[in-house]
Amino acid sequence: MTLAATLSGLRDAHRAAAASLPYTRVESFRIGGEDVAVRRRSSAVIDPATGEQWGAVPVAEPADVDAAVSAARTALADWAATAPAARAAALQRMAEAVERRADALGLTNTLENGTPVSESSGAAANAASILRVFASLVDHLERPDVRPFPGGDRETLVARDPIGVCALIAPWNFPINLVVIKLAPALLAGCAVVIKPASPTPLSVRFLLDAATEAGIPAGVINLVTGDGATGDALVRHPGVDKVAFTGSTPVGRRIAAACGELLRPVTLELGGKSSAIVLPDADLDLMSAGLIRSCLRNTGQTCYISTRIIATPERYDDVVDMVAATVAAAPVGDPLDPTTVFGPVATASQRDSVVGHIRAGLREGARAVVGGDVAAPVDGGFFVAPTVFADVRPHHAIAQEEIFGPVITILPARDVDDAIAIANGTRFGLGGIVFGRDEDAAFEVARRIDTGSVGINFFASNHYAPFGGRHDSGLGVEYGIEGLEAYLVPQSIHRARPGGRP
Ligand code: NAD
Repeated sequence: MTLAATLSGLRDAHRAAAASLPYTRVESFRIGGEDVAVRRRSSAVIDPATGEQWGAVPVAEPADVDAAVSAARTALADWAATAPAARAAALQRMAEAVERRADALGLTNTLENGTPVSESSGAAANAASILRVFASLVDHLERPDVRPFPGGDRETLVARDPIGVCALIAPWNFPINLVVIKLAPALLAGCAVVIKPASPTPLSVRFLLDAATEAGIPAGVINLVTGDGATGDALVRHPGVDKVAFTGSTPVGRRIAAACGELLRPVTLELGGKSSAIVLPDADLDLMSAGLIRSCLRNTGQTCYISTRIIATPERYDDVVDMVAATVAAAPVGDPLDPTTVFGPVATASQRDSVVGHIRAGLREGARAVVGGDVAAPVDGGFFVAPTVFADVRPHHAIAQEEIFGPVITILPARDVDDAIAIANGTRFGLGGIVFGRDEDAAFEVARRIDTGSVGINFFASNHYAPFGGRHDSGLGVEYGIEGLEAYLVPQSIHRARPGGRP
């Protein structure tokens, strides 16, 4: 069946799904625990599967940003003074409250950005897991941290304070996860926040705020403004903001870094990626095929850390091309509300145009499209792109260097393993990566030579207990783990005499 035939009649189902949701056309921000009604320019929420508008939110102006930051500042002192164990208990309660909202949250996510329900139905569980992992790190705040003082009777107690009011700015590809990854450590640390979701995905995040309210997190600790880049810019530069945590594209990350540099404002940046999977000669290609979509094309290729460059040595090159082509060709493309769909639409019309532009560039550069490569719109209205596998890609090709952020994978031949490592390290990014090989010790040695923030052996997934962050153009700082919590704390070293000693 063709994609167009599969999708005919999809509009009615999508309209009915939208009509079942509590948040569609919203005319407020969430400030100080209240839905503050406003008359502002409105921003449309578009269903990427149909191209139809189903929701709207207001675009915050500087006065709204100011009100949200003020509410956070007002709430900060009491929340910062709340015992860490009580904050951790609130995170645990919030995790349960998020799980109770899983269905509506996941469906809203799918209608916002086209993420197939097979993925978005896990968004609440994933958020709950992140909240629980950070709650479990509360010892880090409670355990006295006493350091020796060289050569004497002194010691230093390292105390930690919440960094203050944090601006949390998120992209559209994982609108829940990429907020919670910031919100959970900020709340545990005792910070108050203002969240600014991406304009295509401003509604699903409201379920997080509802869950926080149900969990008893005080009004004003979490505030929400919706809007565009100008709203984000006003938030980044607001004098009442103490720290910025941003996930998004590298060009916007650079602008935020420049603003924060000028203001001497701490900033965490999780940016773009162009990660590689190195296939060693002894790789188990059946295992690789089973995890290929998750590791290399997750969320219709709109995931920052996926390994969209597959690098293979001559022994296995043809087998790898055949396996990747067969795996991608067999993955169903279609309605993201269908639980069997693997590839949905991309999130926005401009993203579709950008991905199609990359496919055209690949064809112009002489890469061989072994699957897809079709740049005609497969469906009227929806933002679908035919999944595409390019073989015989050279490291200097634009499709081997630029983040495509769509269902496009590139396969690059390497002379040998050393050449494969050099190709993997030959981009300006450094976020994820995978080494496929049966000999895990040999794969580990190769992994250690990849210049990247995270790398998996025979699979890739981030671990909420371990730092996740990018090197080079992929970002600054890390999220997750104790290191991710530290990003929301400022230390104070108190030098004193050791017990029984003299200062
Ligand atoms: P984007 O950079 O266009 O926008 C991200 C957010 O920043 C949005 O909320 C946007 O409104 C806001 N924004 C835009 N201009 C701003 C400005 N001048 N000041 C402050 N805020 C501003 O990114 P996107 O298109 O929404 O998301 C896709 C990108 O995100 C990809 O490059 C992807 O790799 C990256 N990403 C990175 C990670 C990671 O962890 N490294 C994770 C997911 C996505």
